[in-house]
Amino acid sequence: MKQKITVSVIVPVFNEESNLKILTREIHRYLYPTSHEIIFVDDGSSDNSFEVLKNIRVKDTNVKLLKLSRNFGQQAAILAGLSKARGKAAIVMDADFQDPPQYLKDFVVKWQEGYKVVLGKRRKRKDTFFKKMTAFIFYRTLNLIVKPRIEPDCGDFFLIDQKIVKELNNVKTKDFFIRGYLSQIGFKKITVPIKREARKNGKSGYSFKKMLKLATDAVANFSSFPIKIFYFFSFTVILVATYFLYLAIILKQNNYYLFSFMAFLSSIQFLGFAILGEYIVRTFRDIRNDGHYLIDEEIGFDEKK
Ligand code: UDP
Ligand code: MG
Repeated sequence: MKQKITVSVIVPVFNEESNLKILTREIHRYLYPTSHEIIFVDDGSSDNSFEVLKNIRVKDTNVKLLKLSRNFGQQAAILAGLSKARGKAAIVMDADFQDPPQYLKDFVVKWQEGYKVVLGKRRKRKDTFFKKMTAFIFYRTLNLIVKPRIEPDCGDFFLIDQKIVKELNNVKTKDFFIRGYLSQIGFKKITVPIKREARKNGKSGYSFKKMLKLATDAVANFSSFPIKIFYFFSFTVILVATYFLYLAIILKQNNYYLFSFMAFLSSIQFLGFAILGEYIVRTFRDIRNDGHYLIDEEIGFDEKK
C-alpha cells in the first residue's frame, strides 16, 4: 500500500550543486519521523545541480526531481514544485541554508495546531549590506501601497496546507508573487521567528535585474497604486490651472490664460489615464480569475440527510 505523505518540501534550485546533498540529509533529519517527500526543482541550473540530484535520488526515493527547460525564476520554480506536491502540507525553502532546516519541525507543529499558513519571519539576517538594505526598502515601500499588507521580512520560507496548495495550482497568472498571494488569502496564519543564516555554498542567484523583476511583479500583481497616482496628478494640475486662471482674471496677466488652459488640458489627460487604469485593473483581475472567495471548511454537505 502506498504510504500517505504528510509534508512535501519544495526546494527551488539554481546552481546549488554543493548544497544539495547536505540539505537533503538535514531535511530528513529535522522532519523525521513525519512522513515526507522532497521535491527539488532545478530552475535551469548551469552547474551540476541536476546530476547531483539524480545521484541523490538513486538511493533516496523520497526525493523527487523536476527540471525546468530553462531559468524561469524562483517563483515559477516554486509553483512547479507545488503542482507535484502530494503532502497534506507543503513547505517551501531555499536550497542554500539561508532558511535553516532546523525550523521545519516548528512549522509542522504549528500546522498540526491548526494553522494553515506558517511564515518564517527573519529576526536576524546574515546577508550583505546591499541585500539587507534593498530588502528593507522593498518591504516598507510595498506595504505603503499593497493592502492587505505583506508580512515584512518573510521570504519564501513557509508552510501551507494542501488546501492552499490546491488554490495556488489554479493560479494562472504569469510572473506571480507568492508572498503577496499568501498575504491576501486569509486562513489561520502565524509567523515563526527565524534566524536567517548566511548562504552556505555558491553565490546568490538573484542578480539586481531579478530583484527588480520580483519587485515589479509584487506591485503589478497586488497593487493598483501606480495607476491611481494619476488621480492625484490630475487633481494637483487642476489646482494649478485654477491658480493660473486667478492670476489671469484678478491680476489681469493675460499670459496666464494660456498656462491655465494648458494645465487644464493636462489635468484631463491625467484623469484619462486614471480612468483607463480602473478598467485595465478590473480586466486584469477578471482575466486572473481569482474567484470571489476561498473556502476554509465545509461541514455537513456530504451527508445523506
Ligand atoms: N533560485 C531559483 N531561480 C533563480 C534564482 C534563485 O530557483 O533564478 C533559487 C535558489 O537556488 C535558492 C532560492 O531560489 O534556493 C533563493 O535564491 P538565492 O539564495 O540565490 O537568493 P538570495 O537568498 O540571495 O535572495
Ligand atoms: Mg539565498
